[in-house]
Amino acid sequence: MEPRGFCAGVKTAINTVVRLAEKYPNETIYIKHKIVHNSEVIRELQEKYHVVFVEKLSEIPNGARVVFSAHGTPPNVYAEAKERNLKVTDATCMLVEKVHSKAKEYAKQGVSIVLIGHNGHQEIIGTMGQAVMHLVENTQDVEKLNIEVNAPVAYITQTTLSIYETKNIELALRNKFPNLFFSRDDICYATTNRQEAVMSVINKIDFLLVVGDESSSNSRRLVETAQQRGINAYLISSFKDIKSAWVLGVRSVGITSGASAPE
Ligand code: SF4
Repeated sequence: MEPRGFCAGVKTAINTVVRLAEKYPNETIYIKHKIVHNSEVIRELQEKYHVVFVEKLSEIPNGARVVFSAHGTPPNVYAEAKERNLKVTDATCMLVEKVHSKAKEYAKQGVSIVLIGHNGHQEIIGTMGQAVMHLVENTQDVEKLNIEVNAPVAYITQTTLSIYETKNIELALRNKFPNLFFSRDDICYATTNRQEAVMSVINKIDFLLVVGDESSSNSRRLVETAQQRGINAYLISSFKDIKSAWVLGVRSVGITSGASAPE
């Protein structure tokens, strides 16, 4: 189904790595975090361009060249890179940067910030470094929020969430905080239109295959989008993952891929 596959942010990040590797063939290019949550793409970049993926800057020699991934990076990591004289190329997606700017602006206005997202995801680590905020993953977390109910509150979100789940959490926030600032979700266009594409065929398919990595948030949300409507859906990395039992008696299969999988 269309649209599917790489989003503009991921394409730009991969091109950034390739451009640097070609421009500096005698240097090792380090990449902080997987540039894209897809192990096939990672392997290809390692084999073809000999780039090295790291999770911590301490794994990189002083003065080396490093790319920060599209998911966004917290300010303390930029500060550490500066201290270590690392040559940073920032591949943060502009839509993630927009969320960072919103967070900083709300903090400046003295508003309590609630971030809707998945704990531990790289994008959440980057966003939570921008200002003091409270993370919620579901409506139960909203109930537990330790913020004065009449305080000015605003929410921001991870860019790769399920539209459906996020709406429920937004509603819970509106019910709990009468002074909720006019806020809207930050789910990016690439995530939204891939979920909408699944919805547009949901009544015509017996099951859905999503090509993507376990670690890819937007791929997993595509699986959930179908499952929430009672359609079996499976995340696969390649055709080898398809089980013959899945296709028994099946007439029509939907196939799509997350924003971190090549088209
Ligand atoms: Fe940017 Fe959305 Fe792609 Fe993330 S999924 S890199 S926010 S376009």
